[in-house]
Amino acid sequence: MSEPLVVVGNGMAAARLVDELAKAALGRYAIAVIGDEPRLAYNRVLLSSVLAGETASHDIELRPASWWRDRGVTLKFGCVATEIDVGRREIKIANEESIGFSRLVLATGSTPLRLNVPGADLAGVHTFRDSRDVDLLLTLAAQRKRVVVVGGGLLGLEAAYGLAKAGASVTLLHLMDRLMERQLDAPAAELLKSLVERKGIRILLNANTARLHGKTRVEGIELTDGRRIDADAVIFAAGIRPHTALAKAAGIPVGRGIVVDDCLQTGAPDIFALGECAEHRGICYGLVEPAYEQARVLAQHLAGHAAAYNGSVVATNLKVSGVSVFSAGDFIGAEGSETIVLNDVRHGTYKKLVIADGRLIGAVLVGDVGDALWYLELIRGREPIARIRNRMMFGRLLALPSEAA
Ligand SMILES: Cc1cc2nc3c(=O)[nH]c(=O)nc-3n(C[C@H](O)[C@H](O)[C@H](O)COP(=O)(O)OP(=O)(O)OC[C@H]3O[C@@H](n4cnc5c(N)ncnc54)[C@H](O)[C@@H]3O)c2cc1C
Repeated sequence: MSEPLVVVGNGMAAARLVDELAKAALGRYAIAVIGDEPRLAYNRVLLSSVLAGETASHDIELRPASWWRDRGVTLKFGCVATEIDVGRREIKIANEESIGFSRLVLATGSTPLRLNVPGADLAGVHTFRDSRDVDLLLTLAAQRKRVVVVGGGLLGLEAAYGLAKAGASVTLLHLMDRLMERQLDAPAAELLKSLVERKGIRILLNANTARLHGKTRVEGIELTDGRRIDADAVIFAAGIRPHTALAKAAGIPVGRGIVVDDCLQTGAPDIFALGECAEHRGICYGLVEPAYEQARVLAQHLAGHAAAYNGSVVATNLKVSGVSVFSAGDFIGAEGSETIVLNDVRHGTYKKLVIADGRLIGAVLVGDVGDALWYLELIRGREPIARIRNRMMFGRLLALPSEAA
């Protein structure tokens, strides 16, 4: 008989895990997936394209209902898992019976942070995380509202671009002195700023939000240096927090995320976690690729095969049309590393490669990102680069003419 395996969360990590499990251990588990969003799992990464009007919402579903059915998965969407009884191996679902499990996987993702400032709970203050948020933002944009986006990371920039493209008048505030400071060095960030401003988005740096004004609805935002920006709506895109409440209440060890080992096992027997809710070797990843790598390892492990997750080298791509940005690995360069830089501001191109111990360890590209995947392979593969070092900056075609031919 199949063992009952319950997955909490019906997001990208959960969908990939079911896919991998169906390949690695078909029939071994009777899988139930509980998800609180009222629709089938979708590609959350593409919400930015939906907001920008470049993709339709119904086109981002990861798998059709028949795919889940064919794999015998019981899908419970629109259902919130409220409690884990570790001892009885049961999970409670709001307004429903509890269900039992022999193995449990937590794939609960993250929640967007709202700044803890006066006025943050006013009407008209939103976040950008799920497809319901996108519907709301599109309504604001259609009404040509003045929108302030708080946060100049990947998410904030994509929200600002989508809103501006859909008709809103957008100001983007960022706390730091440069955009995407966790992925870009100063020259790359400066170039990105000018490219984004050309899309009609106003950008204010060193902008620390003090409070939001308004009686019941937000009317404006005030910065700690006294600047004030009028707004009909404010979107917080200033970070995420792993969704750990369920695990924590069940006594499962939690740091910033749900702590897992190299098999994605939590501190409780037969309970696993993956994706954005998990913390592996002190790191909570906020990107989809690590979640997919974890899904592969966990599926192998659940199938009874030896497998270990050793962490991920992450890469970031900005999805703003006409503004290509890529960043991976150690892009600043620790002491003892070397950098090769090409900076052509006029043509909107910036390239930086960071080398240490004869290997590529990081890269930043703005404008021309055609070789991004090649650089990422070199970083991940830790291959010696001595024979291509002189030509590497000019891309794969010039560095490896014989292989590229
Ligand atoms: C707009 C946007 C753009 C992005 N762009 C990129 C990008 O370009 N590249 C990239 O790598 N990453 C990007 N990301 C991040 C990426 O989407 C996430 O890393 C990925 O979705 C993580 O997958 P997950 O399954 O861990 O979490 P999620 O996809 O968030 O899934 C978790 C699910 O669990 C549900 N859940 C939580 N608690 C419960 C509960 N108690 N009961 C039932 N259900 C529950 C949540 O509602 C959610 O549906 C983007 C994210 C957003 C929002």
